[in-house]
Amino acid sequence: MARKRDRLFPVRLGIILAVGTACIIAAAIYGPSGRRTPAPPETQEEGIALVRDILRRVRPTEFGRSPRGTLLSETIEDFLQRGRLIFTPDIASQALYRREGTGYAVLYVKALRIGGRVVHQTPEEVAEGIYHEAVHASQRHEHGSSIEEECDGFCAGLCAGAAVTGRAEPELLTIEGAPLAQFVTTSYPELPRKPDYQPVSASLDWLKRRTGLR
Ligand SMILES: [Zn+2]
Repeated sequence: MARKRDRLFPVRLGIILAVGTACIIAAAIYGPSGRRTPAPPETQEEGIALVRDILRRVRPTEFGRSPRGTLLSETIEDFLQRGRLIFTPDIASQALYRREGTGYAVLYVKALRIGGRVVHQTPEEVAEGIYHEAVHASQRHEHGSSIEEECDGFCAGLCAGAAVTGRAEPELLTIEGAPLAQFVTTSYPELPRKPDYQPVSASLDWLKRRTGLR
């Protein structure tokens, strides 16, 4: 056993060095704690007004009134009230839930840098992003913990986006013409499966029906 461990050591050292380098690069980009730089105060204020408007529009819809929609809206409201819903140009995705080791959690929303200005995504895009990340926040996981959780996140995002635009969504949700689960498994082939996953305020059978997950 000891000899096996010795042989593995250079591999492990390589991983440690690679992770260490990635952390140093991330720290250089995002500051010592990995926190993103907030957009200018006026962009932040406009963004918060946009999120409040989204919550108002989602609330009376079928999705908004469901236990699942209600819980996710409350999660977003909670980030708003604690000043932890932050607009930033420094993320790649529409939104990002980030939880630090200390328990400090933030819901970042992408602000777009176009020319010299910082502007917002469309209300539909913001709704998709924040409801998706609200699923991760409810599960207290960051993006990418399992195929099931990503399906849950995209499912919530699509329902919220449709609620905001007044669009009706089919029973089987699709992204880019493919059933949602197919999109997720193709986009994130590295993610593990979690057969005992408990979706936010819904059953796993319900999630499978809505996403085509098997
Ligand atoms: Zn996600």
